[in-house]
Amino acid sequence: MTIELSGEERASAESAGRALLGARSVALTTHVNPDGDGLGSEVGLAHLLRARGVDVHIVNPTPTPARFAFLFDDLPGVDRTPEAVKALRKADLICVLDIADVGRLGNLGHAVAERGVPVVCVDHHASPGTLPPGPRYVDPTASATGELIYEMAIANGWPVTVPVARALYVALVTDTGGFRFSNTHPRTLRIAADLLETGIDPESIYLDVYAGAPEGRPRLLADTLQTLVVEPEVGLAWVTVPPGAIEKYGLTPDDLDGIVEHPRSIEGVKLALLFREMSQGRVKVSLRSVGNVDVAEFAHRFGGGGHSRAAGVALHGSLPEVQAKILGEARDFLRKSI
Ligand code: 5GP
Ligand code: MN
Repeated sequence: MTIELSGEERASAESAGRALLGARSVALTTHVNPDGDGLGSEVGLAHLLRARGVDVHIVNPTPTPARFAFLFDDLPGVDRTPEAVKALRKADLICVLDIADVGRLGNLGHAVAERGVPVVCVDHHASPGTLPPGPRYVDPTASATGELIYEMAIANGWPVTVPVARALYVALVTDTGGFRFSNTHPRTLRIAADLLETGIDPESIYLDVYAGAPEGRPRLLADTLQTLVVEPEVGLAWVTVPPGAIEKYGLTPDDLDGIVEHPRSIEGVKLALLFREMSQGRVKVSLRSVGNVDVAEFAHRFGGGGHSRAAGVALHGSLPEVQAKILGEARDFLRKSI
């Protein structure tokens, strides 16, 4: 174990840990369209709690993307996502991971807000959040929520076993873009090293997460990249998922992961966007930036959120309406930021 926790971190991590161990039945949940960090944090924490005799279930608003299904292989019966609202009602403690806003819990938001039990939150977003009260372990400087689960294990003296390490490694790898993004801190790599010391195989994890793509994924990438527009004078670039393309290839929004890195990779681009039509007349915008452009601040203006260089927002309106509005604001924002 190579990381040190401050007194304050230790106290918060211990109090969240005590609450979790003191519960009869714990439901772990994360944001809609769960990613590797949300799922890896849930699975890691589920193993840690199960090993201490806690009845724990994972209850998500939307299903697990196929590429993360392997994480559940040694957790039979723990994923109660298909009957989520019912399963949530049985829990006497809810733990929300990788998000602090009720609005990001999709169809579970109401159940979480109204359940009337303490809500533990472990998260690395800066937003103070809108969850019901309960112990918090929140650190916006953490690369991933998985990093915070690891710290909770250390603070509470819970041994990090191979399945815990595998799940938390997935969280770190996915949220840092394979240890490339600006959130890759010395502590991130120290924790990754500790996780590897348990004997997990980074290559097999890479293959599971990134190299088991359905044929439609590169085809969706190709169709989406065809839509690229670049405005070098303001440092803006964007792509648009052709309406219906995800369904045409039998894919899910998870298959879009990483596409926005392509517009971001262009020389001189400071702000890259990906637009996608969602159901119910809404459009999702993924935002990525380079340098000192703070996309979390930009997303907040429209009710979204995220981190300084990776954020997102969902807006009501047609694709052309949302694009016109966001692109207009983005040009202004870039002129002021640069
Ligand atoms: P992505 O673009 O990959 O979906 O999300 C990037 C980051 O933005 C993530 O950290 C995620 O938490 C945040 N994010 C994405 N969509 C939304 C949204 O609709 N609302 C909020 N508050 N945050 C979002
Ligand atoms: Mn995260």
